[in-house]
Amino acid sequence: MEKKFGWTVGDGKDISLWYDAWCSTELIADLISNNGSSFDHLARVSDIIVNGQWSIPSTIADNFRLANINTSIIPPPLLGEDIRVWKLSLTGCYLVVNGVEIHREKFLKIHWSKWIWRKCIHPSRSANIWKILSGCCATDKRLQDRGINIASICFLCLKNIEDDTHLFWICPFATNIWSWIHELFGFRWNPHVQNFETVTAHVTTRSAAIRDLWAAAITNVLTEIWHHRNSCIFNNIPASSRRVKSKILVNFFECSILMKSTMHNRVEDLMIFKNFQINLRPAKPTRVLQCFWSLPDLDQLKMGCDGCSRGNPGPSGAGVILRDHTGNTIGAMSAGLGICTNFVAELLAIILGLEWASNRGWSKIWVTSDSQTAIKCFASDKIPWFINSRWNNIRKNLSIKFSSIFRETNFAADTMSKRGANLPLGTKETFDHRLSFLAVENPNTCYFRFS
Ligand SMILES: [Zn+2]
Repeated sequence: MEKKFGWTVGDGKDISLWYDAWCSTELIADLISNNGSSFDHLARVSDIIVNGQWSIPSTIADNFRLANINTSIIPPPLLGEDIRVWKLSLTGCYLVVNGVEIHREKFLKIHWSKWIWRKCIHPSRSANIWKILSGCCATDKRLQDRGINIASICFLCLKNIEDDTHLFWICPFATNIWSWIHELFGFRWNPHVQNFETVTAHVTTRSAAIRDLWAAAITNVLTEIWHHRNSCIFNNIPASSRRVKSKILVNFFECSILMKSTMHNRVEDLMIFKNFQINLRPAKPTRVLQCFWSLPDLDQLKMGCDGCSRGNPGPSGAGVILRDHTGNTIGAMSAGLGICTNFVAELLAIILGLEWASNRGWSKIWVTSDSQTAIKCFASDKIPWFINSRWNNIRKNLSIKFSSIFRETNFAADTMSKRGANLPLGTKETFDHRLSFLAVENPNTCYFRFS
């Protein structure tokens, strides 16, 4: 059975403490079971702490060895009560969403889902296109494949047999619609290589509004071809590309009401909006903000923190810069965090920085980070379970002020965190001076932020 929950002592005494990173989903409690691989729900971390020290019985020492844990270097326990945590949630409490996530059946990711489920496309239309692309349309070919003996003819061109590829991509009726919509957008229509993936490639570098409009265009074309095919068969009407085109144009009006994205203020985007006679969505003018890096008080230490993750989750690092009231850099740290998310890296940068500053004898610390969420977690005391013990241990003796700052005035910590992402898990580089390559924020300089 996979271990989704475990006991933790001292509000989160997990393996991360001794790696100085949150990297493992294994808790110490997972390893102190006597029955080997399966989780022992009665096992407590406090069972292996005697007189405030780790005391690992030989019967379970093998579990630690198999998990590659050198028991002689685990830092002393922080003590506290055993707390049961649900490892999959940040709070440590069970959430229904975690339960659903474990049990739901996961399908392969499909490249087209992001194109059809958009704010600018009505959900009923998204559902229609989802059925078409999932191969749910009852075309003649599909009915024949199911063993129904019918003659097949495409009701739109009255020439070929009907299957998905013919109906939506190579039927002269469909290619007429496709070439018309391509022309309205100013894109080149290649009648030889056509499928959903190739038509979406036209807008990969275009503005968000054009991507939205093109997604709506593809959706409209495919669904209207299908609806028109049904009308031809069941209402016995002749195929008319003119009727399909006018319906598609009407649908763009619906899309223009729903869309929230903005265009690039360029002629090529403007022409597309004019062609569909819908309201323009010009890009908002760029605002220029001035921001400053200010000095801490006389007896205060200013700590700039940053975490980064290449991939989110991916190889991650933490960076910390310590500055005194004169602006002198009195410390810089990079730490390798292994594979974790950006958010966890931001949290760990603050924890590692505070532990370091505290060990160096500072008691009044001003913590700054460009992660608003991380600062909010600490300022409101809503800390994820896996760092709770460390946080409770740190804050006992410190006076801490938290501020969220712009990343334009946090670049020194950012440089150190990127350096940390290249370090192996659990490795720390600390310096007690400013490094020659490191540019630090200047209190007399005005920095600019474009938003
Ligand atoms: Zn046809």
